Amino acid sequence: METRTKFSIIYFLIVFLGLFALQYYLTTTSQADISYKTFRELVSLNAVKAVSIGEHTIHGLLRTRSELDSLGVDTTAAAYARLKKIYRRFGAERPVRFRTVRVEDRDLLTLLETHQVDYSGAVESNWVENFLLYWILPFLFLAMLWGFLLRRIGPGNPVLSFGRSRAKIFAADMKNRVTFKDVAGIDEAVEEVREIVDFLKNPQKYQRLGGKMPKGVLLVGPPGTGKTLLAKAVAGEAGVPFFSITGSEFVEMFVGVGAARVRDLFAQAKERAPCIVFIDEIDAIGRSRVSGPVMGGHDERENTLNQLLSEMDGFDSSAGVVIMAATNRPEVLDPALLRPGRFDRQIVVDRPDLNGRVAIFKVHMRHLPLADDVDVHLLAAQTPGFAGAEIANVCNEAALLAARKGRSKIHMSDFEEAIERVVAGLEKRTKVINPREREIVAYHESGHALVGYYLPHGEYVAKVSIVPRGIGALGYTLQTPLEDRYLLTREELLDRITSLLGGRAAEEIVFGTISTGAANDIEKATQIVRNMILVYGMSERLPNVSFADTRKNQFLGAPELQKPFSEKTAEWVDQETRQILDNCYQRARNLLLEHRDRLDALARRLLEKEVVERKELEEILGKVGEMEGAQQ
Ligand code: ADP
Ligand code: MG
Ligand code: ZN
Repeated sequence: METRTKFSIIYFLIVFLGLFALQYYLTTTSQADISYKTFRELVSLNAVKAVSIGEHTIHGLLRTRSELDSLGVDTTAAAYARLKKIYRRFGAERPVRFRTVRVEDRDLLTLLETHQVDYSGAVESNWVENFLLYWILPFLFLAMLWGFLLRRIGPGNPVLSFGRSRAKIFAADMKNRVTFKDVAGIDEAVEEVREIVDFLKNPQKYQRLGGKMPKGVLLVGPPGTGKTLLAKAVAGEAGVPFFSITGSEFVEMFVGVGAARVRDLFAQAKERAPCIVFIDEIDAIGRSRVSGPVMGGHDERENTLNQLLSEMDGFDSSAGVVIMAATNRPEVLDPALLRPGRFDRQIVVDRPDLNGRVAIFKVHMRHLPLADDVDVHLLAAQTPGFAGAEIANVCNEAALLAARKGRSKIHMSDFEEAIERVVAGLEKRTKVINPREREIVAYHESGHALVGYYLPHGEYVAKVSIVPRGIGALGYTLQTPLEDRYLLTREELLDRITSLLGGRAAEEIVFGTISTGAANDIEKATQIVRNMILVYGMSERLPNVSFADTRKNQFLGAPELQKPFSEKTAEWVDQETRQILDNCYQRARNLLLEHRDRLDALARRLLEKEVVERKELEEILGKVGEMEGAQQ
C-alpha cells in the first residue's frame, strides 16, 4: 500500500468539524433567538424590517445600523441598548435574522402596521435550512467518505477502477529475469514446470499426439522452498505474458470486488493468450467453503472462489492460458479447486535433500567472494531441513558477517556463524542472566546433551551452548542427524523424547527442583508421543491404528485429528501418553544418575566456556565407540 494515499482519520475529523461549524453558523450566527418582549420592543424602536409569522414562530429581519441612520433614528439613545448588543454580536451592517416564539397577541398587527414592518404569513417550516442540514450535508459527507475509501483501494489511479484486476504483468526484463538456472534443488518440480513452458512455446508438438495440457497447475510445499521463485522463472523462460497476482488481492473490503477482479483478470488473459496466470498464495481465496470459519468477509471470499471456478471451466486448454497457483496449505483448499479440469496437476515443491542444498548453496554463492576453506558439502550437511529461503538467508548473513569483520572474502567460519544465527535467532550477548540461572541452564543443556549422547538411537549431538539466543532461548543443544531421514523408528522416537526430557531431569537431580525452562521441551515431547499413539499407531494399547485425517497433507506440522474416538479410547490415549512420558523420563534420570560425575564435568565446562563443541564433548563424555551403546 506504499504508493497509495494514506488514509487517515484526521481527514474525517476535519470534514466533520467543518460541517459542525457550518451548522453552528446556519443556526446561530445569522439568527438571534430573542424573547417576545424584546421583539415587541425592537418593533417599537423601528428596528425590525420584515417578519414572517408562522403558526408557532415568528421569523424576522432586523434593520442594519445604516438603514436606521437613513430613517433618522438615533441608535445611540439609551433605548437602543438591547439592539446594540445584538449588533455587537452579529454585526451592525449585516442583515440579521431573528426568531421568536409567537404568542397570542391581538395588537401585533397594529403594532407592525404603525412601525411600517413588512409582514407576511408563513408555512411553518424553514425547509431550505432543514433540507440543507439534514439531507444534503449527510449526503455530501457520505460522498466524501466514499471518495476516501475508494482512493484507499485504488493504487493511485482513477477512483473507479477498483473492479479491475490488479495482476502485474511481468515485462520480459531480459537482464534481471529469473530463469531455471536460479532455481536449484527442486529438480523434479522444475522438470514438470519446464514441460508447461515447452507447451506454451510450441503447442503443436503436444497437441499432435492428442495430448492435453492441464489447465491449472498447483505448486504445493512448505514456505520458502521456492514456489514463487519457480513461477517467476517460468515467466522468465516462457516468453509469453505472465500475469501475477496474490490471492489476498482478490479479496478486499467491498462486496463483489473479488469476483469482478477475477472476471477482469481472465478477460485480460484470454485476450493475450498464450499466457500464464499465476495466483500466489491461493489459499486466501481457495479455502474450503464448508470448513472455513464463518466470519465477516466469508461470503465475499466464497463469491470470489465461485467466480474463479466458473472462469476456469469457461475456457478449454487449447486457448493457451495456463493457470499456476501456489500454496503452502493445500489441506485447506476447497476440493472443488482440485477437480479435473481445474488445478488437476499438483507439483510438490519440498524441502531440498543434501544434494539439493549443495546446489542451492552454489546458486547463492555464485556472486560471493569465497575463501578457499569454504566447503559447500559440509555446509549442506550442517543444514538439514533448511529450505531455499533459509539457505539464501545464510549466504546473505555470512556475507554481512565477513564485511563487518573487514574481510575481503567470506570464510567457512562466517558461514558457520550464519547458520547458527539462522538456526537459533540472533545472538544476544548483552542479555544478562544471573549466576544461579546460568547454572540451571548449564545443567539443563548438559542433561539434553548427555542423554542424547548416551542413548543408542539418540541424535548426533554436535554442540552445546549456553549463550542466550533470540527471544526466550537461554541455551541450546544442537542435535543434528548426520543424514536426511525420512523414516523414524519407534526406538528413535522414544530416544528423542528421552533426550528432550533430559533437561528437566538434570535440573531435578541437581537442584532438587524444576524450572519453567523445560516448557518447550515438554511440549515437543508430548507432541511426539501423541503422534506416536494417534498417527503412527505405535503404542502398545492401540497398535496400528491412526486417528489422523489422511486427506490432510502431512508434511506440515501435526496432522489434524479428525476421526472421532470414544471416551474410553480418549482415556486410554491419556494413560498411554502418561506411561510413555514417564518411562522416558525415568530412563533419562537413570542415565544422568549413572553418569552424574560426567554431567557435573560437562556443566562446569559449559559455565566456563559457554560453548562446548563435539570434540570436547567426546573428551568429557568418553570417546564414541568406547561406550557401550553410545553413538557411532
Ligand atoms: P515460497 O514462495 O515457496 O514461500 P520463495 O520462492 O518466495 O518461497 O523463496 C524465497 C527466496 O528463497 C527466493 O527468492 C530465493 O532467493 C530463495 N530460494 C527458495 N527456494 C530456492 C531454490 N530452490 N533455489 C534457489 N533459491 C531459492
Ligand atoms: Mg511464495
Ligand atoms: Zn531444554
